[in-house]
Order: sequence, then C-alpha cells, then structure tokens
Amino acid sequence: MSDFTFPSSETPRGLAVLGATGSIGTQTLEVVRLFPDRFDVRALTCDGNVELLAEQVREFRPEMVAVGAQERADEFRTLLPNVDVEVSVGQDGLCAAATRSDVDVVMAAVVGFAGLVPVLEALRAENTVALANKETMVVGGTLVNDVLDHHDAHLLPVDSEHSAIFQCLAGESERTVENLILTASGGPFRTRDANTFDDITVEEALDHPNWSMGAKITIDSATMMNKGLEVIEAQRLFDVDVEQIQVLVHPQSIVHSMVAFADGAVKAELGVPDMKVPIQYALSYPARWPAPHERLDWAELTRLDFERPDTGKFPCLRLAYDALDAGGTAPAILNAANEAAVGLFLNEQISFLGIPRLIEQTLGRMSVVESPALDDLVAADEEARRRVEERAAAPSN
Ligand code: NDP
Ligand code: MG
Repeated sequence: MSDFTFPSSETPRGLAVLGATGSIGTQTLEVVRLFPDRFDVRALTCDGNVELLAEQVREFRPEMVAVGAQERADEFRTLLPNVDVEVSVGQDGLCAAATRSDVDVVMAAVVGFAGLVPVLEALRAENTVALANKETMVVGGTLVNDVLDHHDAHLLPVDSEHSAIFQCLAGESERTVENLILTASGGPFRTRDANTFDDITVEEALDHPNWSMGAKITIDSATMMNKGLEVIEAQRLFDVDVEQIQVLVHPQSIVHSMVAFADGAVKAELGVPDMKVPIQYALSYPARWPAPHERLDWAELTRLDFERPDTGKFPCLRLAYDALDAGGTAPAILNAANEAAVGLFLNEQISFLGIPRLIEQTLGRMSVVESPALDDLVAADEEARRRVEERAAAPSN
C-alpha cells in the first residue's frame, strides 16, 4: 500500500457505498452525517432492503442506486416515484456504482464473495477502495494486488484489526516488521465447554459480546473463522510471511491489533470497539478528522487480557491457515464452503459443529488450481457451495 493524497480538504469526496443498508454501510452513512460538507454521496447499493435504501436516498440524494434483482428495483421505484435517481441491478449495478468517474472513494461493504468483482472494477477505474469486505482479499487477494500493481489505485483497510496494523505501520519501513499480531475477542463461546458446542443455538451464536455486526460475520466470530479470514486478509494486504502473523485472543477488544518491530518495540492501536473509527480513518486518510466517537476511560480499564487461541476448540482458524498454506483456489474454497455452511446454520439446517465439518470435507475433496484467474475463482466458489449443500442434504448429516 503506497502513500497518496486525496483531493484538497475543501473538495467534497465523491462516495459510493456498496452494501449501504448493512452494519458497515449504515455506520459509514453515520460518519457522512458528521461531515456533510466533506462528502457527496453519489451511489448507494443494497441487495433486498429497498425500504431502508429509499430512506437513505431521500436523505443523501445519490445519482444512482443498485439493488440485487429486478423485482427489488421495481419495488424501489414504487417507494420513490418522483425522485430522479438511476436504478441498476445485480453485479452490473454494483460495478456501475464502483466505477463512476464522479466517485473518489468506494466503501466496499457488501458481505461475501459478491464483493470481489466490484472491488476489482473500482480499482481498475482507479477509484480508491475502503475495504470492509474481507472475503474479497481472502478469495481474490492476488488478483487485487495485481490490479494495484498496474493501476494508480489505492486500497485502505476498514476491518478494525487491519486498520490498526495500517496505523501502526505509518512511517515505518516494511523491512523492520517482525510480526503482525491480530487480536481476536474469542467470540461468545471462548469459555464455553466444547462438549456442549453441538447444542449451540443460532440465537446464542448471534449474541457477540463486544461488536454489533451483520449476521454472517457474527457467526464467523463465534466459530473464529473470522480470525482465520483475517489472517489471510492480513497476509494479502501487508505482504508478510504467514509465520509473521500471530493471533492473540483479547476478550476486551480494546487493543485492535499490534505490530512488533525488529528492535523489540511493539506498536498497538487501542480504543473503544466502534467501527465508525476505522471507517472514518479510511474515509479521511491520510488526515484525521476530529469526531465525537466514544473515548476510552483509561482509569476504568482495569485489565487487558491476552491468551493463545485454542484451535482444537475452534478448528476454523486452523482450516484457514491450511487454506492459506495450500494457496491457489484453496482460500476461495474455504470461503465459499464457509459462506454456504453459515447460511445453512442460520437457517437451522445444520448444527454449529457442522460448519467446520463441512468446510474441512469440502477442502479435502476439491483439487486446488494454482495461480487462479477470476474464472477459476468463480468456478471454485460455485463448486464448493454446491458440495456443501449436497453434503448437508445427505442422510448421514
Ligand atoms: P451486513 O450483512 O450487515 O450487510 C451487508 C450489505 O451487503 C447489505 O447492504 C446487504 O443488502 C448487501 N448485500 C448482501 N448480499 C449481497 C449480494 N449478494 N449482492 C449485493 N449486495 C449484497 O454485513 P456487514 O456490514 O456486517 O459486513 C459487510 C462486510 O464487512 C463483510 O465482508 C464483513 O466481513 C465486513 N466487516 C464487517 C464488520 C462489522 O462490524 N459489521 C467489521 C469488519 C468487517 P441488504 O441489506 O439489502 O441485504
Ligand atoms: Mg475484524
């Protein structure tokens, strides 16, 4: 990630928010509300929640919106019959929003594999991408890095751990980095007896102790797949060896991540767990804008705990390391199997332990394509999803 400057602070930044109706999307718009003169919202997208999208359009007056399907577009039109806004559909719509020439920054906050192509297209159009959608780097990190190498485009991390590392690296030479230390809350089941994991309900898994997030990432946090995806994301973003990435469980989520340097010094970024802070940093970079986000009360902070993750209890973390090690399409298979398995768990079709089981089976049965092109990633994604669905439907499961 190279240094660069945005247009001068007087020029409002043209903004596209992909996934505007989600947890990151709505918090992005909260940041925009704090700085109404510094942003022009040009494009907003959602999948199906057109009611909320219509409210956002009334408030932010973008030039265009994109929605998941034609019926949703028709529904959106009936909600706002007299508002002059272009409506696009599907992946083409997301890409149209991401590549607009009046957009400076694209907040990539779609969940899952669906976010990959719009991010690649945004970068090819030389728009800056603020990346929340970690699955993009997991599945297509090598393609993203290739586009970054050949275009005058920039990628800024939004995921809190990666934003913390990015902030710790400011002003440092890459050569002096010894380790990246990713912190993990450990999720709601850190202290729960592993013998009861098969009884975990959807409601219990959705009850994250520190962060309020979309359903998919909340389940990923409960299985610790989220940390596994973040290890892969960090490797792709910061170009370090996997051995240099360490995961530490830190239940308070105050230390958002750390960088250890060659001279023994360690830098950390700390704060109240609030995604608006890394969202704002990505949108204001390289500046820091004064904002009223909640402050840490240091005197109330009696302790910060750290422990090694338990990969026996949380096998998803180990599976992610295995996929990173295998390379090629393996992270795409891991990601797709996980997305499919999490979907089945949320629909109460498989148990909590079914998630790592189905991912491991899928990874074990599919061959890996080395140096994949986009078509290979799409094919691996489709096949992994299909295998998970079939396996889950099989009588033995
Ligand atoms: P949400 O589920 O809350 O929101 C997802 C957004 O994407 C919604 O606007 C949704 O539209 C839209 N969307 C869903 N599926 C599709 C699709 N197939 N095509 C187009 N749009 C789609 O997710 P989060 O905001 O929690 O997460 C977004 C991304 O950010 C994820 O990759 C997550 O891992 C990452 N992230 C999230 C954090 C958080 O605190 N939430 C923290 C760090 C990273 P609709 O509302 O209409 O369904
Ligand atoms: Mg994170």
